[in-house]
Amino acid sequence: MRRLYINGSWIPSSGGDGIDVVNPATEQVIDRVPVGTRADAVAAVAAAREAFPRWAATAPAARAKFLTVAGEVLAARAERIARVIAADLGAPYGLALRLHVGLPLRVLRSYARLAAEYRFDAGRAGDALVVCEPAGVAAAITSWTLPLHLPVCKVAAALAAGCTVVLKPSEVAPLAAYELAEVLHEAGLPPGVFNLVSGSGPVVGEALAGHPDVDVVSFTGATATGRRVAALAADSVKRVVLELGGKSASVILPDADLAAAVRATVESAFLNSGQTCAAWSRMLVHQDHYDEAVRLAVAAAREHRVGDPFAADTRIGPLVSAAHRERVRRAIIRGEEEGARLVCGGAEPPPGPGYHVAPTVFAGVEPGMTIEREEILGPVLTMIPYTTVDEAVEIANGTPYGLSGAVWAGDRERALAVARRLRTGQVHVNGGAFGHLAPFGGYRRSGVGRELGVAGLEEYLEVKALHL
Ligand code: NAD
Repeated sequence: MRRLYINGSWIPSSGGDGIDVVNPATEQVIDRVPVGTRADAVAAVAAAREAFPRWAATAPAARAKFLTVAGEVLAARAERIARVIAADLGAPYGLALRLHVGLPLRVLRSYARLAAEYRFDAGRAGDALVVCEPAGVAAAITSWTLPLHLPVCKVAAALAAGCTVVLKPSEVAPLAAYELAEVLHEAGLPPGVFNLVSGSGPVVGEALAGHPDVDVVSFTGATATGRRVAALAADSVKRVVLELGGKSASVILPDADLAAAVRATVESAFLNSGQTCAAWSRMLVHQDHYDEAVRLAVAAAREHRVGDPFAADTRIGPLVSAAHRERVRRAIIRGEEEGARLVCGGAEPPPGPGYHVAPTVFAGVEPGMTIEREEILGPVLTMIPYTTVDEAVEIANGTPYGLSGAVWAGDRERALAVARRLRTGQVHVNGGAFGHLAPFGGYRRSGVGRELGVAGLEEYLEVKALHL
């Protein structure tokens, strides 16, 4: 059994219960983590509260140095941590190394730079001096989908700002968070500045979200859970950052390079077995090009080999758990029942051990169908035809979410004009690559607040006016 990390030490949970960690490819138990209790959460908050004044008073350059060293430790362990994530989440090893470790490493380094460069004494407003100060104790509650990246987004930004942190990772795929705690310990972070309490959402998550000594709660997970976290946080008027679900659209305009747009959309929909919040899980194609787009999408989907995360030719690993695979299978069955046309994959799992789902493509999808509106978080792409650009924009904006999206057109200006009309936190224009310094977050039910870069840092700062 692992231990909790509180006040600079690895200690047993006060409860003694554990959760088995299951490798979703082999279905074997590979580890066991503590089910933290409310008392554990309270102890971690107390440690973070006690450490706060000294950490907040540390020069930003010194905080930058800690983060730089943490980046060096993480880089030195990259392959080991990628293996842990491949075994715990089921991500193909190459993806685990490139995305699941490579991205948080860039984020950690970016916050080391920002801690050194950000102007915490922001300047003047009239005669007043405006200063930015650390907001206090931050609680970070994260999803399993990107099990190292999501904790790092929150923890690195909070530490750079001068906040102390309690991290509660998901009870699903929790091992990457343990790796992060080891990295920060080895980087020499003072006791109490970072704390890790694993456990369930209703116990540890709620204890943190409602704790009066927590000043900021940053949550990544499902929209329904975010609503609960925000309600609990309201009692003590905390700052709340919510990074929630999505059902993002890739809008392919009639003059776009169809083959490139379809291929990139399929890649996005199936990345991480479709288990990413920002997946372009809806492809919108003009009626005149629709049949050709379906043919291209099926061909691209068939190139996504499903299999063992450690095999070199695997593009799609298993889903994270048996329960999650069941949810995804039910969504596929519902799509068929509602009249969408299954053109690739389906609910029948591929043979062999592991919680696999075949890459699945639905054609003939209509706005309002459940598979078009609700997040599935699995390798399921829905293809929707449209006749006018206005209709495409309406469909793209037609779900309660607004997290990500893409627009493809023959020229950038036309694509940009449509991108500006999407009610969503980020839009990739003609294949523009994801940038880890740009603000990331959602409109509407996809969330409140932003992560990454300067915007992510500022979620952990209070602004004070000193009237002179
Ligand atoms: P989830 O909401 O079930 O769990 C997220 C976290 O909240 C976990 O740590 C869980 O233990 C905790 N939790 C559960 N109940 C709680 C409660 N009552 N109080 C406090 N905490 C509680 O979500 P999940 O299955 O881990 O993640 C999938 C969701 O996350 C998807 O909707 C996905 O789109 C979203 N997501 C969003 C982003 C983003 O940046 N917007 C990134 C990744 C995932």
